[in-house]
Amino acid sequence: MITMVLVNPFSERVKDLLTIDLNDIDQSLVRLSIARSNEKNNDKYVDLDERDDAISLFLLLQSLAQHPHAPEVYAALNAYEHLLKERLSWHFSDDVLEEMRTLIPIYYIKDHMVADRPLSKAVDLPGMGTILPREDLFRLKTMRRSEVEYAVVWTDVYEVTDITRQYIVDGYLYLTKWELFDLYSKVVRKRCYDYVHGLSTRMEGVNHPVYEKISSKVKALLKTETRIERTASGDLEEELFPPCVRIALGGVSSGQRNYAITFLLTSFLSYARLIPSTKVFDRESSFTLSQEDVQILLDEVVPEIIEAGDRCDPPFFKEQPLEKLNILYHLGFGMTETPTAADYGKSKWYLPPSCTKIAENAPQLCEPDAFCSQVTWGVIDRERAEEVVNKAAAKERMAEGEQVLALLLKRSRTRDAIAEELGLDKKQVAPLLQTLSKNKLVGRRKITNPLIYYIRKKRASSRKA
Ligand code: SF4
Repeated sequence: MITMVLVNPFSERVKDLLTIDLNDIDQSLVRLSIARSNEKNNDKYVDLDERDDAISLFLLLQSLAQHPHAPEVYAALNAYEHLLKERLSWHFSDDVLEEMRTLIPIYYIKDHMVADRPLSKAVDLPGMGTILPREDLFRLKTMRRSEVEYAVVWTDVYEVTDITRQYIVDGYLYLTKWELFDLYSKVVRKRCYDYVHGLSTRMEGVNHPVYEKISSKVKALLKTETRIERTASGDLEEELFPPCVRIALGGVSSGQRNYAITFLLTSFLSYARLIPSTKVFDRESSFTLSQEDVQILLDEVVPEIIEAGDRCDPPFFKEQPLEKLNILYHLGFGMTETPTAADYGKSKWYLPPSCTKIAENAPQLCEPDAFCSQVTWGVIDRERAEEVVNKAAAKERMAEGEQVLALLLKRSRTRDAIAEELGLDKKQVAPLLQTLSKNKLVGRRKITNPLIYYIRKKRASSRKA
């Protein structure tokens, strides 16, 4: 069978394409390996020649295996996952579906219907040994705004999806075409991830110039200098937690448990413990977790979440033991009961939900205090603000507006703090801020996320100390 594009890099057929001599490799393949690690280049590689695609992909994965926990690994795997999704949306066909089936079984529901009887209450799928309520199919179609056409066996995909939130009947997970593309791309990403980690010990001490070149250029290309260094240096400071987190920690009733424990506490405690930095919200930034960090998540953060779940009424994990898996999934360990440091990265590490989302989904958790409602002012265009301040300073004519700007360049402040520090009346400060704001130099800020609350309060408390 001939397919135009590669969708299963682990098929037997692809193995035959991979016999190469590293010492005599075509440099264009090395360049391709490097460039494809960056998602921004994806558009160029939707229609790659199969052999070039396979060789450049495996060269990249092998080079990344030297540092399997580096941020480049996650960035490159994300790029490949998105490339596959794009490729499937452009090139999906019967041949491509057959190729996908060499990785996992995929059922096209219509192929298994004996005879479609629209008036019967269920769709009979004897080829799959199951019957599907027609009402569910209709409901799913309305919810997902597309026909549910495919099914996969849940055990084939449980590591890459949150199965507690999927529609599963008799062990099959039902999907629209777009959901299939998404899930399938995640399965391939996971296989690539396993390949990188499985290879890592064998790649230790392998110093081939091709691998060295790819790994150093990929690092530069993905600008890992924007990497966030881990700044957590000690224990969580509970007295600085926002009200929503304190409520969740105390245990909540059944209606709020899921949101409070799985979504809020899991994400909040893990980021607050390891990376209390607003940079985690910056899509361009990436970060590295060391083995020690991963162990902190497992030894300190997970037990704290489980304890909070046990304080719920009724106890969360006793009633829904499967939710423990979900906690680990949301922390980035995939779906596993016995996580190890090596499992980290199998799923996405979720960021804490925003205050708006919390108020929408679990309103009882959000009881804003004075710090939540506090408005601060901060610089929004640092370059221009510095220019304005420097010009005024050079002429030795720092008017009040420039003095406010100079103060805010150091860090954000409330209006009252600005007035106090500059020895001005509060009423004088308001119009100054208004003018600076109209000129788009400064802007108002409110707490928009519980993690931001914690970070700002931590900073404020260390300034006082
Ligand atoms: S405003 Fe935000 S930080 Fe404050 S309690 Fe509500 S959700 Fe938590």
